[in-house]
Amino acid sequence: MTIITSSGSRVQTNGWQRVLQQAIRNTRELGDALGLELPETGTDFGLLVPRPFLSRMKPGDPRDPLLLQVLIQEAENVSVAGYSGDPLQEQAATGETGLQPDRPRGLLQKYQGRVLVVTTGACAINCRYCFRRHFPYQDYQPDRRAWEQIIAQIRADSSLTEVILSGGDPLVMNDRFLADLAAQLAGITHITTLRIHTRLPVVIPQRVCDELIAWISTLPLQVVIVTHINHGNEIDSDVITAMGRLAQAGATLLNQSVLLKDINDDADTLTDLSQQLFKAGILPYYLHLLDPVDGAAHFDTSEKRARALMRSLTSRLPGYLVPRLVREVPGTDAKQLRFPG
Ligand code: SF4
Repeated sequence: MTIITSSGSRVQTNGWQRVLQQAIRNTRELGDALGLELPETGTDFGLLVPRPFLSRMKPGDPRDPLLLQVLIQEAENVSVAGYSGDPLQEQAATGETGLQPDRPRGLLQKYQGRVLVVTTGACAINCRYCFRRHFPYQDYQPDRRAWEQIIAQIRADSSLTEVILSGGDPLVMNDRFLADLAAQLAGITHITTLRIHTRLPVVIPQRVCDELIAWISTLPLQVVIVTHINHGNEIDSDVITAMGRLAQAGATLLNQSVLLKDINDDADTLTDLSQQLFKAGILPYYLHLLDPVDGAAHFDTSEKRARALMRSLTSRLPGYLVPRLVREVPGTDAKQLRFPG
C-alpha cells in the first residue's frame, strides 16, 4: 500500500508499519481512548503507545499495569541521587564517539564471545523505565560506512560466536535490510547465533509478517528472540499466534522482564506472567532489577523485596518457569545474579 506522509512524500507500507504509524503519541488521545483524564506532563522522552498494546488495557482504570508502563508521570522530572542518564555506562563501551575508538559506531561489546549492535534508536513503544531513554542514538546509530566496518570487525574477531541486535528495537527495521544483514552474518564461519532483543512482536503482533518469517526460517544460524514482557496482560491471542509462528520458523523464544513497582512487584502477578509466557511458548529468562536511569526512580523495588518475591516464585513454579533475578553492573564481565544470594 502507498500512503502520503505529512511532508507530502509517498511511501510504501505494509500492515505492521501502518499500525506503527497509527500509534498514540499524546496523553490526551490516550486518556480519551481509555475514558480517563490523564495528567499531561512535559518530557523530552515522548509518549508512544501502539494500538494493539492499548487494546489490552482496561478502560477506566488509571492503575492498569500496561498503562503505568507508558504513562508520563510528574515523578519523571524529579532528580534522584544515584540515578543518571547512562546508568550502564554504555556510551563508554561503544565505538567512535565512545572510549573505544577502534570499534565502529553502534558496535558495543560488554561480554566475551558476543557483541551487541545498536541497530536503531526507534521503538514501537516508549517504556518509561527504559535504561536507554537518554541514549544519544543519533551519535551511535550505524550509517552505511559503519555497517561495513561492523561486519568487517565481526569477521576479523574469531572469538565471537553470537551477534545481538538491539536498539531501540531492531525489528523496526524493514525485512529487506534485516535479511541482508543476517545473511552477511551467516557468511562468517565463527558466528553461530543471531539474537534479537525486541518488544515489537508483543506490542504489534502484526510485525511477525510473512517477510520476517521467510528470512528467519531460512537463515543458517541459530536464532534467539528475546522478548520483553512485564505483565501477563500483555499476552493475548494475537501475541500467542505471533510467537507460535516465530517458534515454527525455528527461533528459540526467551523473555526478559523488568521488576517494576506497582506493575509486577507481587508474587501473583509474576507467577501469572511466567504461566502466560509458557502458554505463548516463551521461557522466562531474566527478571531485571531496575537500572537507575534518570526519570525512572518511581519504578524501583528494593532488592530485599525482589529476593522475597523470588523465594515465592521458586516455591510456586517449576524451575524452568522461574526467571533469573539479575542486576547489570557496568564494567563487570556478566550480569550479576541476585538470587539466591
Ligand atoms: S522497547 Fe525496549 S528499547 Fe524501546 S523503550 Fe521499551 S525498553 Fe526501551
